[in-house]
Amino acid sequence: MTQPLFMVGARGCGKTTVGQTLARVLGCAFTDTDEMLWRSNGKTVADIVAEEGWMGFRARESEILASVTQGQTVVATGGGIILSAANRRFIRARGTVVYLNVSAQELARRLQAYPEEAQRPSLTGKPMIEEIAEVLATREKLYQEAAHHIVDASQAPDDVVYTILQQLSSAISD
Ligand code: ADP
Ligand code: MG
Repeated sequence: MTQPLFMVGARGCGKTTVGQTLARVLGCAFTDTDEMLWRSNGKTVADIVAEEGWMGFRARESEILASVTQGQTVVATGGGIILSAANRRFIRARGTVVYLNVSAQELARRLQAYPEEAQRPSLTGKPMIEEIAEVLATREKLYQEAAHHIVDASQAPDDVVYTILQQLSSAISD
């Protein structure tokens, strides 16, 4: 694998958790676009959204994405990265895209169980479960469109990693 592996999916689907383990198993680097944003300008997602709005945040995400186009890297992307058609085309053309598919109920369960990871500005101002279901409904098609591989990510993290490795190796031998 000489291309980056892009993990896409809703907030809480396991992009960071699964991506880190996958990188370890593959013996390659791991990066997180949210963390790269933080390292490049010292601002959190919440800071950028407060100062520049969601549009400004999306533009910065595209810049970050463009900087991780080479080599064996697992890249955990922001949940909304696929909202931009240019970003969807970019990750599909430059890497292998894995969609971690999780139901709205399970996402809500995880974000409630680990509220510190839910520290992101609300997109709609609605209660969490409603917002998750609504956001997922509008993005589901886009995640699928961007993805080379769609994986059931409601399994335990190690099983998700195993499923991804299986799908990647069967794609190579196809
Ligand atoms: P993302 O990076 O996609 O937003 P995270 O990897 O940060 O998601 O996971 C969000 C939370 O859900 C974390 O607290 C993590 O421990 C938990 N989690 C991630 N993947 C799973 C899984 N497959 N099963 C159960 N909990 C998970
Ligand atoms: Mg993450």
